[in-house]
Amino acid sequence: MPQLIAGNWKMHCLAADALALARGVAAGAGGITAELLVCPTALHLAAVAQALKGSTVAVGGQDCHYARQGAHTGDIAAPMLRDAGASWVILGHSERRQNHGETDELVREKTLAAVEAGLNPIVCVGETADQRAGGQETEVVGWQLAGSLPKPFTGVVAYEPIWAIGSGKTATDEDVAVMHAFIREELIRQFGDPGQTIRILYGGSVKPANAASLLAVPNVGGALVGGASLNPQEFLAIARAAQAG
Ligand code: PEP
Repeated sequence: MPQLIAGNWKMHCLAADALALARGVAAGAGGITAELLVCPTALHLAAVAQALKGSTVAVGGQDCHYARQGAHTGDIAAPMLRDAGASWVILGHSERRQNHGETDELVREKTLAAVEAGLNPIVCVGETADQRAGGQETEVVGWQLAGSLPKPFTGVVAYEPIWAIGSGKTATDEDVAVMHAFIREELIRQFGDPGQTIRILYGGSVKPANAASLLAVPNVGGALVGGASLNPQEFLAIARAAQAG
């Protein structure tokens, strides 16, 4: 299976910038064997999806509601993302868990809604700096996996140590190897054989300079990229470092 290189544009870009960024990624995507995905703000998703039509770059949302529709002011339902051209959605990102109080249970409900709407979910897990300092990182990630993933689970998991997101600090290849091996074991324990092939992305200050070694770590199925995904050349350089699979 090819590695997945996903760009999380977060709350960046006005409409014209988002379109330019999307076109820049599509223009340089030729010859890249990794699967490419960009996740703009929901407001720009339809326009970005339209601009990327016919390219090899997929589009995803950054969150969705657990309900199909209803009285949820300001929220966005999974079928709306699908209708706008998304085929993926990021769920349980640490910025949503921390800033919006999202629990594992809520992330699981959202994941179910996403799958029902025909979206591929990317479910994020990861520990804080304090939890790692206390040696609790695998325990925390184990609980998040057990609570956030519905059974069966057909999506992708992203391991994103919170202390590495947007900080310029990257987990060492050894840290990533240990955690991804643990996540693989947990996925097999939870889901049996299908757990062998669920892709596990690494996220946290992935840049062109560190991408090749991170993407070569066993059980790393791609990268979830924040800051570097806002520059098409950097994002493409990371994608070129990906393994053909
Ligand atoms: C992210 O927010 O998912 C992320 C990995 O960000 P960054 O690459 O900027 O650390």
